[in-house]
Amino acid sequence: MKPTNPVFTGLQTTIFETMSRLAIAHGAINLGQGFPDVDGPEDVRRVAAEALMSGPNQYPPMLGLPELRQAVAESNRRFYGLDVDWQSEVMVTSGATEAIADVLLALLEPGDEVILIEPLYDCYLPLVKRAGGIPVRLRVTPPQWRLDLDALAGAFTENTKAILLNNPMNPAGKVFSEEELAAIARLCNEHGVYAICDEVYEHLLFDGRQHRPLMAFEGMRERAVRIGSAGKTFSLTGWKVGYVTAAPNLLEPIAKAHQFVTFTTPPNLQRAVAYGLGKQDDYFEDLSRSMQAKRDRMLGGLRDLGFGVLPCEGTYFATCDVTTLGLEGGDVEICKRMVEEAGVAAVPVSAFYVADAPTNFVRFCFCKKDEVIDGALERLDGWVRKQTGAGASAPLGVASVGGD
Ligand code: PMP
Ligand code: GLN
Repeated sequence: MKPTNPVFTGLQTTIFETMSRLAIAHGAINLGQGFPDVDGPEDVRRVAAEALMSGPNQYPPMLGLPELRQAVAESNRRFYGLDVDWQSEVMVTSGATEAIADVLLALLEPGDEVILIEPLYDCYLPLVKRAGGIPVRLRVTPPQWRLDLDALAGAFTENTKAILLNNPMNPAGKVFSEEELAAIARLCNEHGVYAICDEVYEHLLFDGRQHRPLMAFEGMRERAVRIGSAGKTFSLTGWKVGYVTAAPNLLEPIAKAHQFVTFTTPPNLQRAVAYGLGKQDDYFEDLSRSMQAKRDRMLGGLRDLGFGVLPCEGTYFATCDVTTLGLEGGDVEICKRMVEEAGVAAVPVSAFYVADAPTNFVRFCFCKKDEVIDGALERLDGWVRKQTGAGASAPLGVASVGGD
């Protein structure tokens, strides 16, 4: 038999799927995979249901329903002051994941270097490699998850084609500072590099922070590709509706990739997302305010239990240093025991590194009902008390983002 493609062959199942399966198997509270446990706004879902029944349910236009593309362009203006032409600069995709794949397929040539920042979201590395790119890794450093600007500058070479930036950042819960974003923008301009901006958590910033798309920085309007997701903005992660905003000369090849990856996205969901993006400002303010309250509930509880809680400025996720608990084993081992013994699923942060990962951080997802958060904290309380000196169990065998 001839070999199948080495990038995907042998890759393990994602850590999110693995932890969700374990959560089901052990009847655990699932604070692993990032999804809300309450579906998003009823009016948005109703528009989708009605559009499903009234139709049409045939192929929508390849770039997306005009009403959704117009709504995305209008959101860019309303929230960020970006002037976007919906016809030549906006495309709808089947989730941000498809958008990331399309963009990488469209922009990269074999041998192009792509700067990735660890801890990194799991699909980035295989998609960059499969598109022929060479990943160049940088790190943000806990506990503040700061970006070392000298290291950043050192990562740009004459072969750099793009930087892939996730802001706000999963799993770190980091919002890149104005200074960090300005440095990235300056380097992209100096080196003629594209920025692929995964901004799926753009409406989930806390403590009064405002999202600043890299695209809004000087010189970046033509170089940045901005990616959003209705999954996060409307708490409907299973819908897989994403959107890309980019200058016409970039969107054109991205659309060519999209036309052979999925071609289109279910029309009723597109109609509902268009409706949702038109909601009043208070919807978006409530979304981040209610998520911030959940963050506080989760982080306060974890801190009281002795977890080394790290700052969380946005996203669905809190990371904790577990060394403060004096537990045996690394993050993978601890997550395995936590799901089996405490009945709480979390995600080991080492899964977001390619190699030489720190093994003392665990990610908890807090976009859950208050009683679910409280229930998880109660289970963890009993478990943590029993822990010190507990024996090690068999390795979990979970996927990390994989070696290069
Ligand atoms: N990027 C990041 C950083 C994510 O956390 C996720 C997870 N939802 C995605 C992209 C994927 O978004 P979608 O479900 O719209 O494909
Ligand atoms: N983005 C989600 C997370 O970080 C996972 C999505 C998925 O399972 N692909 O938990």
